[in-house]
Amino acid sequence: EAGAAGEADDAVGLATRHLVQPWPYAGSAGAEARTLIGEGDGIYITDAMGKRLIDGPAGMWCTNVGHRREELARVMYDQSMQLSYNTPWYTMNAPSAQLAQRIAGHAPGDLSHVFFTTGGSTAVETALRFMQFYNNVKGRPDKKLILSRGGAYHGSTYLSASLNGRPRSHDWMDGLDAIAVKLTAPDPFRRPQGMSIEAFGDFLVEEFRDTVARIGAERIGAFIGEPVQASGGVIVPPDNYLKRIREICRVNDILFIADEVVTAFGRLGSIFASGEVFGLDPDMITFAKGVTSGYFPLGGVVISERLLEGLRRSNHPDALFGHGLTYTSHPVGCAVALKNLDLLEGGVLAHAREVAPYFQARLKSLEELPLVGEVRGMGLMACVECVADRESKNPLELDTNVGERIDRHCQELGLLVRPLINMCVMSPPLVITRGQIDTLVDILREGISRTM
Ligand code: PLP
Repeated sequence: EAGAAGEADDAVGLATRHLVQPWPYAGSAGAEARTLIGEGDGIYITDAMGKRLIDGPAGMWCTNVGHRREELARVMYDQSMQLSYNTPWYTMNAPSAQLAQRIAGHAPGDLSHVFFTTGGSTAVETALRFMQFYNNVKGRPDKKLILSRGGAYHGSTYLSASLNGRPRSHDWMDGLDAIAVKLTAPDPFRRPQGMSIEAFGDFLVEEFRDTVARIGAERIGAFIGEPVQASGGVIVPPDNYLKRIREICRVNDILFIADEVVTAFGRLGSIFASGEVFGLDPDMITFAKGVTSGYFPLGGVVISERLLEGLRRSNHPDALFGHGLTYTSHPVGCAVALKNLDLLEGGVLAHAREVAPYFQARLKSLEELPLVGEVRGMGLMACVECVADRESKNPLELDTNVGERIDRHCQELGLLVRPLINMCVMSPPLVITRGQIDTLVDILREGISRTM
């Protein structure tokens, strides 16, 4: 044990001297220790002290089939031994072609082709650059503005980050303000007081329509939205709102991009939620995370046949889409994703659909606690939003970081939480059982009670 403890001390020491963690505060940048995780198994991860925690956020909404899946480890080994990498510039590999076919088979409408990336930000970046290229080729170089929404999270690259909707993403960072127009977050909990959810949906649609009319459809290239806003706090939009937005986009020739980096590959019980859950047929869908259950960094964009046909028939067949990543169509990532799809189709999706209502109902019971303003969610993603005052729905002061305090209590009790200021997000591995859901909710209840 001395060895393990020594190793842990060592890792923490090394990290605080040499590692810059994601999303650091200036005051601790490059000098911060976070909970050191040594192992994962099923829905559990184990910290350096040997304490087993339920992986409440499934990594970052990604470890969908759970940790330590031997099938996935084996396929990585086998594919690496067969072909670890090939240049996608002048060559191709079979796993990426097979994966593109399988993904297209699950995608709604005429989404028929896939461009693979390294993750979600690069998927969003690719979709947006494709929109720009498409409009250049179609001879309408002014049709490039992008509509996005408050509460949105689309990534940490320059273009994708410029579309994020939470002030936290922007306060100290530069962005390409000129490319984006931000609309109201479709958050029913934060709708104007006295307004019904239905009326709020109408308000959002009107705002969208008015914005298009004010700016002019000839200047707007795309709308991008998460079907359920994830990092914004699991915001489930009003019924039919997304379908109505989609229609406005269709009429105005504005590309509708569904950012399914979180919602695809099982989180809402289907491979893609836009079609199966929301009845949408986007022009492009971005995905990442669950496509490999986090075993390998991979993402992509599913693109409609109509758009590609538009390019092939354009007046500029020699126009070059100058966009590609070294790891586009990575053979190991694609092989892992194929096996991961086998697991999802072979029972994990069905299980996720089966336990989701139980998961939501059990978490909903936390609304009894005075600190909890709302518990909301869909499928196997949920958010517990804490408020200082239930009447006014005032969020707790930013600097109280109530989510982090709840997380600390929960970690002591055996659950890792994803704290988001005054919110706790829960998105466990999809293989979670009813008994494990009970434990998760019991710990969260106790953690929140200790925080009050
Ligand atoms: N889009 C959405 C909806 C996300 O939630 C995320 C990450 O959480 C991203 C894009 C960015 O993905 P990545 O972190 O893989 O670059």
